[in-house]
Amino acid sequence: METNENISPNAAAGKHVVVVGLGNIGSPLVELLARLEFVNRLTLVDHDAYDESNLRGQAVLPSDVGRPKVLVQAERAGQINPALQVEAIHAAVEDVPLARLRADVIAACVDSKWGRQHVSQPAWRLNVPWVDAGVAAEGRLARVNVYLPGDDQPCYECAWSKRDYETMEVKQPCQPHGSAAPTHAPASLGSLAASLQAIEVEKILSGDLKSAAVGKQITLAAGSHQLHSMSFRRNPKCKFDHRTFQLQPVRCEPGNFPLRELFAAVQKEIDGAEEVRLHLDGKPFERQWRCVCGAEQAVLALAGRTAAKDRACRRCNGTMQPVGFVSLPSLCERTLTPPELAKPLSELGLVAGDVIFTNRENSRIAFELVNT
Ligand SMILES: [Zn+2]
Ligand SMILES: [Zn+2]
Repeated sequence: METNENISPNAAAGKHVVVVGLGNIGSPLVELLARLEFVNRLTLVDHDAYDESNLRGQAVLPSDVGRPKVLVQAERAGQINPALQVEAIHAAVEDVPLARLRADVIAACVDSKWGRQHVSQPAWRLNVPWVDAGVAAEGRLARVNVYLPGDDQPCYECAWSKRDYETMEVKQPCQPHGSAAPTHAPASLGSLAASLQAIEVEKILSGDLKSAAVGKQITLAAGSHQLHSMSFRRNPKCKFDHRTFQLQPVRCEPGNFPLRELFAAVQKEIDGAEEVRLHLDGKPFERQWRCVCGAEQAVLALAGRTAAKDRACRRCNGTMQPVGFVSLPSLCERTLTPPELAKPLSELGLVAGDVIFTNRENSRIAFELVNT
Protein backbone atom coordinates (compact mmCIF):
# COMPACT_ATOMS: atom_id res chain seq x y z
CA MET A 1 0.00 0.00 0.00
CA GLU A 2 1.40 3.37 -0.99
CA THR A 3 0.28 6.57 0.65
CA ASN A 4 0.89 10.16 -0.09
CA GLU A 5 0.35 12.60 2.72
CA ASN A 6 0.04 16.23 1.91
CA ILE A 7 -1.06 17.66 5.21
CA SER A 8 -0.88 21.35 5.79
CA PRO A 9 0.05 22.03 9.42
CA ASN A 10 -1.86 25.31 9.55
CA ALA A 11 -5.24 24.01 8.45
CA ALA A 12 -7.98 24.95 10.88
CA ALA A 13 -9.87 22.20 12.59
CA GLY A 14 -12.78 21.10 10.46
CA LYS A 15 -14.51 18.07 9.10
CA HIS A 16 -12.90 14.99 7.66
CA VAL A 17 -14.49 12.98 4.86
CA VAL A 18 -13.23 9.64 3.55
CA VAL A 19 -14.08 8.84 -0.08
CA VAL A 20 -13.88 5.20 -1.14
CA GLY A 21 -13.81 4.61 -4.90
CA LEU A 22 -12.89 7.27 -7.47
CA GLY A 23 -14.71 6.17 -10.61
CA ASN A 24 -17.95 7.32 -12.25
CA ILE A 25 -19.33 8.78 -8.97
CA GLY A 26 -16.23 9.26 -6.81
CA SER A 27 -14.29 11.32 -9.37
CA PRO A 28 -16.90 14.13 -9.63
CA LEU A 29 -17.62 13.84 -5.88
CA VAL A 30 -14.08 14.87 -4.89
CA GLU A 31 -14.51 18.25 -6.56
CA LEU A 32 -17.86 18.85 -4.80
CA LEU A 33 -16.42 17.92 -1.40
CA ALA A 34 -13.34 20.09 -1.95
CA ARG A 35 -15.72 23.03 -2.31
CA LEU A 36 -17.81 22.26 0.80
CA GLU A 37 -17.20 24.81 3.53
CA PHE A 38 -17.27 22.26 6.37
CA VAL A 39 -14.61 20.02 4.89
CA ASN A 40 -10.97 20.65 5.61
CA ARG A 41 -9.64 17.13 5.29
CA LEU A 42 -10.15 14.42 2.67
CA THR A 43 -8.88 10.87 2.64
CA LEU A 44 -9.14 9.17 -0.75
CA VAL A 45 -9.07 5.38 -1.10
CA ASP A 46 -8.82 3.48 -4.40
CA HIS A 47 -6.57 0.65 -5.63
CA ASP A 48 -6.93 1.39 -9.34
CA ALA A 49 -5.42 3.64 -12.04
CA TYR A 50 -7.34 5.55 -14.74
CA ASP A 51 -7.37 4.08 -18.22
CA GLU A 52 -8.56 5.23 -21.65
CA SER A 53 -12.03 3.79 -21.11
CA ASN A 54 -12.60 6.14 -18.14
CA LEU A 55 -12.33 9.34 -20.19
CA ARG A 56 -16.00 9.47 -21.09
CA GLY A 57 -17.56 8.33 -17.84
CA GLN A 58 -15.31 9.87 -15.19
CA ALA A 59 -14.04 13.31 -14.24
CA VAL A 60 -10.53 12.85 -15.67
CA LEU A 61 -8.27 14.28 -18.37
CA PRO A 62 -6.29 12.42 -21.04
CA SER A 63 -3.10 13.27 -19.10
CA ASP A 64 -4.48 11.32 -16.10
CA VAL A 65 -4.52 8.01 -17.98
CA GLY A 66 -2.16 5.49 -16.42
CA ARG A 67 -1.91 7.29 -13.07
CA PRO A 68 -3.33 6.03 -9.75
CA LYS A 69 -6.82 7.45 -9.24
CA VAL A 70 -6.02 8.59 -5.71
CA LEU A 71 -3.05 10.70 -6.83
CA VAL A 72 -4.99 12.33 -9.68
CA GLN A 73 -7.92 13.26 -7.43
CA ALA A 74 -5.73 14.32 -4.50
CA GLU A 75 -3.98 16.80 -6.82
CA ARG A 76 -7.28 18.06 -8.19
CA ALA A 77 -8.73 18.57 -4.70
CA GLY A 78 -5.60 20.51 -3.73
CA GLN A 79 -5.91 22.74 -6.81
CA ILE A 80 -9.53 23.54 -5.96
CA ASN A 81 -8.83 24.18 -2.28
CA PRO A 82 -5.13 24.58 -1.41
CA ALA A 83 -5.95 24.71 2.32
CA LEU A 84 -7.43 21.21 2.21
CA GLN A 85 -5.51 18.36 3.88
CA VAL A 86 -5.57 15.48 1.44
CA GLU A 87 -4.36 11.96 2.02
CA ALA A 88 -4.24 9.46 -0.82
CA ILE A 89 -4.37 5.75 0.07
CA HIS A 90 -3.60 3.60 -2.95
CA ALA A 91 -5.18 0.33 -1.80
CA ALA A 92 -8.41 -1.61 -1.86
CA VAL A 93 -10.65 -0.59 1.05
CA GLU A 94 -10.48 -4.05 2.64
CA ASP A 95 -6.68 -3.68 2.93
CA VAL A 96 -6.74 -0.25 4.59
CA PRO A 97 -6.04 -0.27 8.35
CA LEU A 98 -9.41 0.23 10.02
CA ALA A 99 -8.55 3.36 12.03
CA ARG A 100 -7.46 5.19 8.88
CA LEU A 101 -11.11 5.23 7.80
CA ARG A 102 -12.11 7.13 10.94
CA ALA A 103 -13.74 10.40 9.85
CA ASP A 104 -16.86 12.51 10.27
CA VAL A 105 -18.47 10.84 7.24
CA ILE A 106 -17.47 8.10 4.79
CA ALA A 107 -18.72 8.41 1.20
CA ALA A 108 -18.80 5.09 -0.66
CA CYS A 109 -18.62 5.26 -4.46
CA VAL A 110 -17.93 1.59 -5.15
CA ASP A 111 -19.56 -0.66 -7.69
CA SER A 112 -20.06 -3.95 -5.87
CA LYS A 113 -21.82 -5.43 -2.86
CA TRP A 114 -18.45 -6.63 -1.63
CA GLY A 115 -17.13 -3.06 -1.72
CA ARG A 116 -20.17 -1.66 0.11
CA GLN A 117 -20.01 -4.34 2.78
CA HIS A 118 -16.35 -3.41 3.29
CA VAL A 119 -17.34 0.19 3.91
CA SER A 120 -20.40 -0.61 6.02
CA GLN A 121 -18.64 -2.83 8.53
CA PRO A 122 -15.72 -0.44 9.26
CA ALA A 123 -18.19 2.47 9.47
CA TRP A 124 -20.11 0.64 12.21
CA ARG A 125 -16.97 -0.44 14.03
CA LEU A 126 -15.81 3.20 14.09
CA ASN A 127 -19.31 4.66 14.65
CA VAL A 128 -19.04 6.87 11.55
CA PRO A 129 -22.07 7.79 9.39
CA TRP A 130 -21.70 6.72 5.78
CA VAL A 131 -23.37 7.71 2.56
CA ASP A 132 -23.61 5.23 -0.26
CA ALA A 133 -24.27 6.20 -3.87
CA GLY A 134 -24.91 4.19 -7.00
CA VAL A 135 -26.14 4.46 -10.57
CA ALA A 136 -27.89 2.19 -13.05
CA ALA A 137 -27.49 3.21 -16.68
CA GLU A 138 -30.75 1.45 -17.53
CA GLY A 139 -33.54 3.81 -16.47
CA ARG A 140 -30.94 6.52 -15.80
CA LEU A 141 -31.14 5.89 -12.06
CA ALA A 142 -29.05 7.71 -9.47
CA ARG A 143 -29.38 6.55 -5.88
CA VAL A 144 -28.18 7.56 -2.45
CA ASN A 145 -28.47 5.79 0.95
CA VAL A 146 -27.53 7.17 4.36
CA TYR A 147 -26.50 4.92 7.24
CA LEU A 148 -26.05 6.15 10.79
CA PRO A 149 -24.60 3.54 13.18
CA GLY A 150 -26.84 3.31 16.25
CA ASP A 151 -28.93 0.97 18.36
CA ASP A 152 -32.05 0.88 16.24
CA GLN A 153 -30.56 1.80 12.88
CA PRO A 154 -30.36 -0.52 9.86
CA CYS A 155 -26.94 -1.40 8.47
CA TYR A 156 -26.23 -2.15 4.81
CA GLU A 157 -26.57 -5.89 5.41
CA CYS A 158 -29.92 -5.61 7.25
CA ALA A 159 -31.68 -5.74 3.87
CA TRP A 160 -29.71 -8.79 2.69
CA SER A 161 -31.24 -12.19 2.06
CA LYS A 162 -29.48 -15.55 2.21
CA ARG A 163 -29.12 -15.28 -1.56
CA ASP A 164 -27.20 -12.00 -1.23
CA TYR A 165 -24.62 -13.72 0.96
CA GLU A 166 -24.41 -16.66 -1.44
CA THR A 167 -23.76 -14.46 -4.48
CA MET A 168 -21.12 -12.56 -2.47
CA GLU A 169 -19.16 -15.76 -1.95
CA VAL A 170 -18.87 -16.44 -5.67
CA LYS A 171 -15.46 -15.08 -6.56
CA GLN A 172 -14.86 -14.20 -10.18
CA PRO A 173 -11.66 -16.03 -11.15
CA CYS A 174 -9.96 -13.25 -13.10
CA GLN A 175 -11.17 -10.29 -11.04
CA PRO A 176 -10.06 -9.23 -7.60
CA HIS A 177 -12.85 -8.79 -5.07
CA GLY A 178 -14.58 -5.45 -5.44
CA SER A 179 -14.19 -5.03 -9.18
CA ALA A 180 -17.58 -5.55 -10.71
CA ALA A 181 -18.17 -5.29 -14.42
CA PRO A 182 -17.93 -1.63 -15.50
CA THR A 183 -21.30 0.13 -15.23
CA HIS A 184 -20.80 2.13 -18.46
CA ALA A 185 -22.84 4.90 -16.90
CA PRO A 186 -22.41 8.31 -18.56
CA ALA A 187 -20.54 11.03 -16.66
CA SER A 188 -23.83 12.95 -16.32
CA LEU A 189 -25.38 10.13 -14.28
CA GLY A 190 -22.30 9.71 -12.08
CA SER A 191 -22.30 13.46 -11.44
CA LEU A 192 -26.00 13.35 -10.53
CA ALA A 193 -25.36 10.60 -7.96
CA ALA A 194 -22.29 12.49 -6.69
CA SER A 195 -24.40 15.64 -6.23
CA LEU A 196 -27.08 13.78 -4.26
CA GLN A 197 -24.31 12.23 -2.17
CA ALA A 198 -22.51 15.53 -1.52
CA ILE A 199 -25.80 17.07 -0.37
CA GLU A 200 -26.34 14.25 2.16
CA VAL A 201 -22.71 14.54 3.32
CA GLU A 202 -23.22 18.25 3.87
CA LYS A 203 -26.40 17.67 5.90
CA ILE A 204 -24.58 15.24 8.18
CA LEU A 205 -21.55 17.49 8.61
CA SER A 206 -23.72 20.50 9.43
CA GLY A 207 -25.70 18.47 11.99
CA ASP A 208 -28.91 18.63 9.95
CA LEU A 209 -29.73 14.96 10.53
CA LYS A 210 -33.48 15.62 10.41
CA SER A 211 -33.39 16.27 6.70
CA ALA A 212 -30.70 13.68 5.89
CA ALA A 213 -31.91 10.42 4.34
CA VAL A 214 -31.00 8.41 7.47
CA GLY A 215 -32.06 4.78 7.06
CA LYS A 216 -33.45 5.60 3.63
CA GLN A 217 -32.75 5.07 -0.03
CA ILE A 218 -33.52 7.96 -2.35
CA THR A 219 -33.65 7.08 -6.03
CA LEU A 220 -33.92 9.62 -8.78
CA ALA A 221 -35.10 8.00 -12.01
CA ALA A 222 -33.97 10.64 -14.48
CA GLY A 223 -35.27 8.50 -17.34
CA SER A 224 -38.89 8.76 -16.18
CA HIS A 225 -38.63 11.87 -13.98
CA GLN A 226 -39.59 10.03 -10.80
CA LEU A 227 -38.28 10.26 -7.29
CA HIS A 228 -38.61 7.29 -4.94
CA SER A 229 -37.92 7.16 -1.24
CA MET A 230 -37.70 3.86 0.61
CA SER A 231 -37.09 3.31 4.34
CA PHE A 232 -35.13 0.42 5.77
CA ARG A 233 -35.54 -1.15 9.20
CA ARG A 234 -33.07 -2.77 11.49
CA ASN A 235 -33.25 -6.51 10.89
CA PRO A 236 -32.99 -8.47 14.17
CA LYS A 237 -31.76 -11.47 12.15
CA CYS A 238 -29.03 -9.50 10.38
CA LYS A 239 -25.78 -11.47 10.12
CA PHE A 240 -23.70 -8.44 11.07
CA ASP A 241 -23.39 -7.86 14.83
CA HIS A 242 -23.77 -4.01 14.62
CA ARG A 243 -21.16 -3.46 17.31
CA THR A 244 -19.29 -0.19 17.54
CA PHE A 245 -16.05 0.31 19.46
CA GLN A 246 -14.07 2.91 21.33
CA LEU A 247 -10.49 2.27 20.25
CA GLN A 248 -7.85 2.06 22.97
CA PRO A 249 -4.45 3.20 21.74
CA VAL A 250 -1.39 0.97 21.88
CA ARG A 251 1.49 3.36 21.30
CA CYS A 252 4.27 1.67 19.40
CA GLU A 253 6.55 1.75 16.39
CA PRO A 254 5.39 -1.37 14.46
CA GLY A 255 8.88 -1.68 12.92
CA ASN A 256 10.49 -2.48 16.27
CA PHE A 257 7.65 -3.53 18.55
CA PRO A 258 7.72 -7.32 19.03
CA LEU A 259 4.53 -9.36 18.91
CA ARG A 260 5.24 -10.53 22.47
CA GLU A 261 4.94 -6.94 23.69
CA LEU A 262 1.60 -6.54 21.96
CA PHE A 263 0.29 -9.55 23.87
CA ALA A 264 1.69 -8.05 27.09
CA ALA A 265 0.11 -4.63 26.42
CA VAL A 266 -3.30 -6.18 25.76
CA GLN A 267 -3.04 -8.52 28.76
CA LYS A 268 -2.31 -5.53 30.97
CA GLU A 269 -5.33 -3.63 29.68
CA ILE A 270 -7.85 -6.42 30.04
CA ASP A 271 -6.41 -7.51 33.38
CA GLY A 272 -8.14 -10.89 33.22
CA ALA A 273 -7.25 -14.50 33.78
CA GLU A 274 -8.42 -15.44 30.30
CA GLU A 275 -5.98 -16.34 27.60
CA VAL A 276 -5.54 -13.42 25.20
CA ARG A 277 -6.50 -14.04 21.59
CA LEU A 278 -5.85 -11.29 19.09
CA HIS A 279 -7.70 -10.89 15.81
CA LEU A 280 -8.43 -8.33 13.13
CA ASP A 281 -11.94 -7.94 11.70
CA GLY A 282 -12.26 -10.46 8.88
CA LYS A 283 -8.51 -10.87 8.33
CA PRO A 284 -6.85 -14.19 9.18
CA PHE A 285 -3.13 -14.78 9.69
CA GLU A 286 -1.53 -16.95 7.02
CA ARG A 287 0.66 -19.79 8.34
CA GLN A 288 1.81 -21.41 5.12
CA TRP A 289 2.47 -20.47 1.52
CA ARG A 290 2.62 -23.00 -1.29
CA CYS A 291 3.82 -22.80 -4.87
CA VAL A 292 2.50 -24.74 -7.89
CA CYS A 293 5.95 -26.39 -8.08
CA GLY A 294 5.29 -27.99 -4.67
CA ALA A 295 7.57 -25.75 -2.58
CA GLU A 296 6.18 -24.69 0.80
CA GLN A 297 7.15 -22.04 3.31
CA ALA A 298 6.01 -21.55 6.91
CA VAL A 299 4.98 -17.93 7.58
CA LEU A 300 3.13 -15.70 10.01
CA ALA A 301 1.55 -12.97 7.88
CA LEU A 302 -1.65 -10.97 8.01
CA ALA A 303 -3.81 -11.82 4.97
CA GLY A 304 -3.74 -9.28 2.17
CA ARG A 305 -0.63 -7.42 3.34
CA THR A 306 2.11 -9.11 1.32
CA ALA A 307 2.77 -8.10 -2.27
CA ALA A 308 3.10 -10.88 -4.85
CA LYS A 309 6.81 -10.05 -5.26
CA ASP A 310 7.38 -10.81 -1.57
CA ARG A 311 5.91 -14.26 -2.08
CA ALA A 312 8.36 -15.30 -4.82
CA CYS A 313 9.17 -19.01 -4.72
CA ARG A 314 12.85 -19.69 -4.01
CA ARG A 315 12.81 -22.81 -6.17
CA CYS A 316 11.05 -21.67 -9.38
CA ASN A 317 10.47 -17.90 -8.86
CA GLY A 318 6.69 -18.40 -9.22
CA THR A 319 4.32 -16.69 -6.78
CA MET A 320 3.48 -18.64 -3.65
CA GLN A 321 -0.15 -18.61 -2.50
CA PRO A 322 -1.47 -18.81 1.06
CA VAL A 323 -2.85 -22.18 2.11
CA GLY A 324 -6.32 -21.26 3.35
CA PHE A 325 -7.16 -24.11 5.69
CA VAL A 326 -4.13 -23.58 7.92
CA SER A 327 -4.75 -19.83 8.33
CA LEU A 328 -5.47 -18.66 11.87
CA PRO A 329 -8.52 -16.48 12.57
CA SER A 330 -6.79 -15.27 15.74
CA LEU A 331 -3.38 -15.38 17.41
CA CYS A 332 -2.74 -17.00 20.76
CA GLU A 333 0.66 -16.58 22.46
CA ARG A 334 0.87 -20.22 23.59
CA THR A 335 0.77 -21.58 20.02
CA LEU A 336 3.53 -19.33 18.66
CA THR A 337 7.26 -20.01 18.75
CA PRO A 338 9.72 -17.70 20.58
CA PRO A 339 11.20 -16.47 17.25
CA GLU A 340 7.68 -15.66 16.03
CA LEU A 341 6.88 -13.77 19.24
CA ALA A 342 10.12 -11.81 18.79
CA LYS A 343 9.13 -10.60 15.31
CA PRO A 344 8.27 -6.91 15.02
CA LEU A 345 4.62 -6.25 14.16
CA SER A 346 5.58 -4.83 10.77
CA GLU A 347 7.03 -8.21 9.75
CA LEU A 348 3.58 -9.73 10.23
CA GLY A 349 2.13 -7.02 7.98
CA LEU A 350 0.69 -4.92 10.82
CA VAL A 351 0.89 -1.13 10.45
CA ALA A 352 -0.21 1.95 12.39
CA GLY A 353 -3.97 2.33 12.19
CA ASP A 354 -4.63 -1.39 12.41
CA VAL A 355 -7.25 -2.30 14.97
CA ILE A 356 -6.79 -5.45 16.99
CA PHE A 357 -9.69 -7.04 18.84
CA THR A 358 -9.69 -9.27 21.87
CA ASN A 359 -12.46 -10.82 23.95
CA ARG A 360 -12.99 -10.07 27.60
CA GLU A 361 -15.68 -12.23 29.17
CA ASN A 362 -18.65 -11.63 26.88
CA SER A 363 -17.47 -8.38 25.38
CA ARG A 364 -14.86 -7.36 22.86
CA ILE A 365 -12.26 -4.65 23.19
CA ALA A 366 -10.52 -2.89 20.32
CA PHE A 367 -6.95 -1.63 20.33
CA GLU A 368 -5.55 0.75 17.75
CA LEU A 369 -1.86 0.68 16.85
CA VAL A 370 -0.81 4.30 17.13
CA ASN A 371 2.61 5.40 15.89
CA THR A 372 4.76 6.91 18.60
ZN1 LIG B 1 -27.63 -5.11 9.90
ZN1 LIG C 1 7.86 -22.76 -7.04
